[in-house]
Amino acid sequence: ENAQLKDIISHAKEYGFVFPSSEIYDGLQAVYDYGQMGVELKNNLKNLWWKSMTQLHQNVVGIDASIFMHPLTWKASGHIDSFNDPMIDNKDSKKRYRADVLIEEKAAQYEADGHYDKASELLVEMGRLLGAEELDGVRELIIKEDIKCPISGTTNWTEVRQFNLMFSTQVGSVAEDSSTIYLRPETAQGIFVNFLNVQKTGRMKVPFGIAQIGKAFRNEIVARQFIFRMREFEQMEMQFFVRPGTEMEWYNTWKDNRKKWHEAIGIPADSLRYHDHEKLAHYANAAVDIEFKFPFGFKEVEGIHSRTDFDLTQHQELSRKKLQYFDNDLNEEGKPYGNYIPYVVETSVGADRLFLMTFCSAYTEEEITEGDATKTRTFLKFHPALAPVKAAILPLTKKDGLPEKATEIFNALRYDFNTIYEERDSIGKRYTRQDLIGTPFCIAVDHQTLEDNTVTVRDRDSREQVRMPISELHSYIDKAVNF
Ligand code: ATP
Repeated sequence: ENAQLKDIISHAKEYGFVFPSSEIYDGLQAVYDYGQMGVELKNNLKNLWWKSMTQLHQNVVGIDASIFMHPLTWKASGHIDSFNDPMIDNKDSKKRYRADVLIEEKAAQYEADGHYDKASELLVEMGRLLGAEELDGVRELIIKEDIKCPISGTTNWTEVRQFNLMFSTQVGSVAEDSSTIYLRPETAQGIFVNFLNVQKTGRMKVPFGIAQIGKAFRNEIVARQFIFRMREFEQMEMQFFVRPGTEMEWYNTWKDNRKKWHEAIGIPADSLRYHDHEKLAHYANAAVDIEFKFPFGFKEVEGIHSRTDFDLTQHQELSRKKLQYFDNDLNEEGKPYGNYIPYVVETSVGADRLFLMTFCSAYTEEEITEGDATKTRTFLKFHPALAPVKAAILPLTKKDGLPEKATEIFNALRYDFNTIYEERDSIGKRYTRQDLIGTPFCIAVDHQTLEDNTVTVRDRDSREQVRMPISELHSYIDKAVNF
C-alpha cells in the first residue's frame, strides 16, 4: 500500500514522466523536467483545473500575466520585506535546514508516539515565536527539544537567520542604469494588478474570480522530496473578489469546493485532510491547507486563504491608483458606501504537487496469480480523464491484415483521444507496458475482428476483457474520460 518515494521517483523516470533537469550534467538541485508521459498528465491536470474554474463558474475568468513585474509590486505585496524562511546551520555537518521544518518533524514524531498534546504545544509555541520573529527563541526551542542534525547527529546549531526566497535579475544592460527585478514567487500578484482591467473590460460584478496558471520561482534552501519542493514550479491560483464582511462565507465555500475537486479526480477521501494554519501570513485572516498523505506523510497540496483587502490596499497605496469597485447593488439596497476595495479569498494549488499527489495515489502494486505463479503487477491507476494515453490499439499479430484493420481504428480515434498504436512484442508484454504508464483501455484486434468488426477491450484495473463492436469504441472511451 505504502509505496516508497524512491519507487515513485524511479518509476516516474523509467516510464518518461519526470527527469532530473540537465541530467547529463548530473542534474540541478530542485529542478525537474517532464517527459513524454509526464507532460500529458500535467496538461490534463491543468486543463481540468482550468475548465472547473472558468467554464463551470460563470463568474470566474482567466488571465495570463507576465513573470516579470514592476519591482514595486513586491514591495507592495510584502515579499521584499517578509518573504523569508528561518534557516539554521549545523556547525558540524555544515548543512542548512529550515528551522520550522525541523520543529515540525519533531512534532510529527511526538504524534507518531501518541503524544498529541506535546505535538500541538510545540507547534503553537513555534507559531508564536515565528509570528513575533523571535529567532533566538526558535533556536532555543530547537536546543531544548534536543533536535539533532540528520547528517551529523549533533545539536551544534548556529543562530537562526532569515533568507529571502525571491530570485532577482537585472533588466537592460547592466552597464546602463538598470534596476533589479524579480522572478515572481507567486502568480497572485499578476491578478491583483489586473483586477480593475478585468473587472471593467469584462463588466464583472462582485463576487467574481480571476484564475491563472503560470510559473513561479522560489529559492528554496532545503530542496527535498522530489517535485514536492522545487525552485521553478507552476501554480494554479484563483483570486475571488468579494464584498467585505462576506469573506468567511466564501472561504468556507471554496474550502469545501476544492476538497471535493480533489476527490472527483480520483484521490481517496481518506488520503486528504484539512490543516488549519497555526501561524497566519501577514496578509491573511484565515488560512487552511488541503493535505495529501504522501509517502513522507501528510503535506500541503493546496492552500485556501482569506487575504482580506491587504494586497489591493497595498497596491493602491504604492501605485497611487484607485483600486476600488463601485457596487451598484449595494446602492440599490439603499446602503451607503457603494465604493470599496473588495476582500479576496484565494485558492492556490501547485501543478507539480498535484502531479506528485496524482502519481503517488495512482501507483499500485498488486499480487496476481498466473497459472501456479504469483507475481507483482505494477500499474498506474489514474482516473481515465488524467491518464496520459487513453487507449492503445494492439493488433494480435503483424500479419493477415490485422495491422491494417488496427490502423483504421487508430485513425478513427486519434483525433479525439491520445491514442497509441503498438504492434511489437507479445500481447501480454504490450498490456504490461500500458499498465506501467496507466493507459485505461487496451483494444486488441484479432482474426474475429476481420469477420464481425468487434474488438476486445481490456480494462487496466480489473484486467477483464469485453468484446464490443468497433462502432461503440468512441462513445465507450468518451464516457470514461469525461470528468
Ligand atoms: P510550503 O509551506 O510547502 O513552502 P507555502 O505555504 O509556501 O508552501 P503557498 O505560498 O501557499 O505555499 O503556495 C501555494 C501552493 O503552491 C502550495 O500549496 C504548493 O502546492 C505550491 N508550491 C509552493 N511552493 C512550492 C515549491 N517550492 N515547489 C512546488 N510547489 C510549490
